[in-house]
Amino acid sequence: MSDITIYPARKIITMNPARPEASHVAVRDGRILGAGTLEELEGWGAYDLDARFADKVLMPGMVEGHAHTMEGTLWGKVYVGYFDRMDPDGTVWPGLTSIDAVLARLTEAEAALRDPEAPLSAWQFDPIYMDNQRVNRAQLDAVSAKRPIGVLHASVHIMNVNTRALELAGLMRQGIEHPGIPLGEDGYPTGELKGPEVMGQVGAHVGYAQALTDCDEPGLRAFAKLCVRQGVTTVTDLAAGLSPEAVEMMLRVTGEVGFPARVVPLRYFMGLSPADLVAEVVRLRDMSTDRLRMGRIKVVADGSIQGFSARMRWPGYYNGAPNGMWYIAPEQMEEIYERALEAGVQIHTHTNGDQATELALEKMEAALARHPRRDHRFTLQHCQLADAAQFRKIAALGMCVNLFANHHFYWGDAHYNLTVGPERAERMNACRTALASGVPMAIHSDAPITPLAPLFTAWCAVNRLTASGRVQGEAERISVDEALYAVTLGAAYTLHLDGEVGSIETGKRADFAVLEEDPTTVDAMALKDVPVWGTVQGGRVFAAGDL
Ligand SMILES: [Zn+2]
Repeated sequence: MSDITIYPARKIITMNPARPEASHVAVRDGRILGAGTLEELEGWGAYDLDARFADKVLMPGMVEGHAHTMEGTLWGKVYVGYFDRMDPDGTVWPGLTSIDAVLARLTEAEAALRDPEAPLSAWQFDPIYMDNQRVNRAQLDAVSAKRPIGVLHASVHIMNVNTRALELAGLMRQGIEHPGIPLGEDGYPTGELKGPEVMGQVGAHVGYAQALTDCDEPGLRAFAKLCVRQGVTTVTDLAAGLSPEAVEMMLRVTGEVGFPARVVPLRYFMGLSPADLVAEVVRLRDMSTDRLRMGRIKVVADGSIQGFSARMRWPGYYNGAPNGMWYIAPEQMEEIYERALEAGVQIHTHTNGDQATELALEKMEAALARHPRRDHRFTLQHCQLADAAQFRKIAALGMCVNLFANHHFYWGDAHYNLTVGPERAERMNACRTALASGVPMAIHSDAPITPLAPLFTAWCAVNRLTASGRVQGEAERISVDEALYAVTLGAAYTLHLDGEVGSIETGKRADFAVLEEDPTTVDAMALKDVPVWGTVQGGRVFAAGDL
């Protein structure tokens, strides 16, 4: 046995412009010795030839620049989404397209629960596809009046609960005055809960005890399986709490010899002052390993567009809804930017509405004036409604964007008809404008909000189809090559990891997505259907079929 393995493949897409394609790749110690012909690679010395990928197509392992490992934990609960979706074990759960179908699945799952006290928890409910009909507690009481029930919406910002859950949380009473707790005609809560504060009060009673942003240990393992199934070798966890217990668990699990992904958790800005948070993140950065890369911060500026909680500039929402919510005080944003620039810590900022993007740009400009720093790569996450002028400003400030290409498919019709209207809907997630403005760009799923699957995300950016089948914003489409770059090197760049991953060339980590077909030659409409065989991560082979 040699310490060098050479893999022949039907084709190797390298993303290395000097040598875009190769027939063989040589791996030693988990890193790439080189990509080229067998004859060229033989120059490295004795090797073993491993022909298992001889009829496969290799591309760089995909980098998901915005996801949440909590999706793994959610799969331990009942899936009630509108679209078909594959779980970590490869089972595809059919989408539920009516309230009745959702209630029927809940009833079925309830009957399967042995423990009479156990809560029934479900996720990914999205009534926007069902004429925005709401579910009330009486409907959930019909599923069970005895056990607490919690149904989390796809946005993760709303939850429906039954009477028992409200009782356990002490909320089953009249006279409550809270914007997050709507009341019925009888003066009691309807069972719909809005916002993290209210959901947190009831969450512990309905199986959502943990902060809704963090995964548990089985969840992290499950999430890693999804990564293998979708060709992902580096994945972010974009709003992690990173408590000492969570860090211990993540270091231990990612350190296991069979753990197949590199996880990049960003510490959510909450609970600590800007100065303390930066110090904490620097401390975490020093504890990082190859497969757990800490040391970055996530800031959230506003809410979601389809939930009407995103901050919009004039003239606001198309349907006249009032402007959304700030999730951060403007002064705090400037201070955290300054402290982070000073310490060389990177920040990714969630902005959905264009007013939120504008605030981030203003604060970044002010912070950079006081603490100039080259190559900071501060990244705007989602940045869905930025216009051309904002993209030019983003470029001028040295920032990156990670656009929410999947959103266009799932909620594009709602944006066109309801939230922002036709004109702004067409320029949402403006990939072409970003590239034309010279802004380094990634595209993402925000899993669990939409499914983790970078080839699907690439398909969304290339085709810009909405769920109803309309092409929306033809001028913002990008090419297949540009989209594949965005889900590999593009995303790696936003994490300062482009020198290590994102392409197949000498010196980089041996991270590959192993595909059954060539994504660059299939019809662009079939890009999302290219089957993924599995991955190679750090030189270790993971077959989706063996999970
Ligand atoms: Zn997110």
